Amino acid sequence: MALQRPKGTQDHLPDGSPKLTRDVQASAFTHVQDTARRVLERAGAQFIDTPLFEEAELVRRGVGGSTDIVRKEMFTVYYFGDHGGYVLRPEGTASIVRAYLQNGLKQLPAPLKLWTHGPMFRAENVQKGRLRQFHQVDYEVLGSTDPLVDAEAIWLMWEVVRELGLTGVRVKLGSIGDPTDREAYNAYLRDLFKPHEGRLSGDSQDRLIRNPMRILDSKSEGDQALIRELGVRPMLDFLGEEARAHFEMVQGYLRDWGVPFDIDPSIVRGLDYYRRTAWELHHEGVGAKSALGGGGRYDGLAAQLGGPEVPGIGWAFGIERLLLALEAEGMAFPGAEGPLLFLAAMDEENVGLAARVALQGRRVARVEFAYRALKPGNAFREADRRHARYAAVIGSDEAARGVLNIKNLNSGEGREVPLAELNAFLEQA
Ligand code: AMP
Repeated sequence: MALQRPKGTQDHLPDGSPKLTRDVQASAFTHVQDTARRVLERAGAQFIDTPLFEEAELVRRGVGGSTDIVRKEMFTVYYFGDHGGYVLRPEGTASIVRAYLQNGLKQLPAPLKLWTHGPMFRAENVQKGRLRQFHQVDYEVLGSTDPLVDAEAIWLMWEVVRELGLTGVRVKLGSIGDPTDREAYNAYLRDLFKPHEGRLSGDSQDRLIRNPMRILDSKSEGDQALIRELGVRPMLDFLGEEARAHFEMVQGYLRDWGVPFDIDPSIVRGLDYYRRTAWELHHEGVGAKSALGGGGRYDGLAAQLGGPEVPGIGWAFGIERLLLALEAEGMAFPGAEGPLLFLAAMDEENVGLAARVALQGRRVARVEFAYRALKPGNAFREADRRHARYAAVIGSDEAARGVLNIKNLNSGEGREVPLAELNAFLEQA
């Protein structure tokens, strides 16, 4: 058997491929990226791009040493003679905040809205909607603590979903408070779980020491059963006055703008530099345990990376998961369009001429040509296979007179167009 792609990766295929499904359709990816670009750029977000690999230390500090991502899922990059200090990026936020600090973007008007899309890498257990190379659309806002910025960020996610035509999406909203609120909550959790430590999974015993909040996020059934049994109080009960006021304001804006949401106390982003607003978007087509996307405020992150205090907030959609949701809702995509005109020569002497006419036409429209001489019947069949709208065959008569007989493949109508007027014809077609 020929060589295969690595586990947990996908090829994005052209329309018409025999093994095409929605989540690997290249034109569907482009459609999602273009939709996000339209929505985000109208809101003033600017595109930013960062390397696919970064210093491991950036990811360790930017994602958090106690997370599964850093502990178990990092792809380390080696080259010959290297110290192995690089990793493939598992997410976009740490890189964007690094780029903001390193390139003096603080001087741009605040709040600075940035967006990007691209591949992310996590060595996860592979299953539906959970890949090792997946793709995100990311939006990050730096330089504001205003709850209006939080609400706008959530609205933008909702707007991407709406523009894509998805209807079955739910927004789950929570708050993880300020660092002092979280300390109080972690102290509460430590006291609560300590007597039952032996029943926790190994990972969660570790979390009990490092960061008890992450126990609530555990994927272990046993941990979840214990959490239910103990009737753990939610983080929301521990919000201080300021964090509570902030949370109320975010909700107020969302209600005002008609973005539906449910308060979900189970949303925890247990890293030190996350603050206040946290949310996830869910869709049945992706499964209850997996989010379509999520976001949060991370006012402590820039300082964690060694920079000054810069408040920030951001979100990411998984593009594959958006595509699974679109598939589940039976959404059709416009496949890639065919050429406006397909040209073929009827004899070898005119193949070069057909090509030259096509190259001229490409200044204004998509024009393709046959690389060898074809009989008219075959030429029109080839044009049909490519979903062309018009086709023309060039023989010695057309070559001598400097004209094309252009056939409309929908109506069957033919029309003679002088070569000199081809581009005017294509522009109007
Ligand atoms: P996170 O950075 O973990 O908050 O993830 C943000 C979004 O990226 C998730 O809601 C998913 O849509 C997507 N995502 C995260 N991990 C994966 C994965 N392994 N495979 C596919 N999509 C993922």
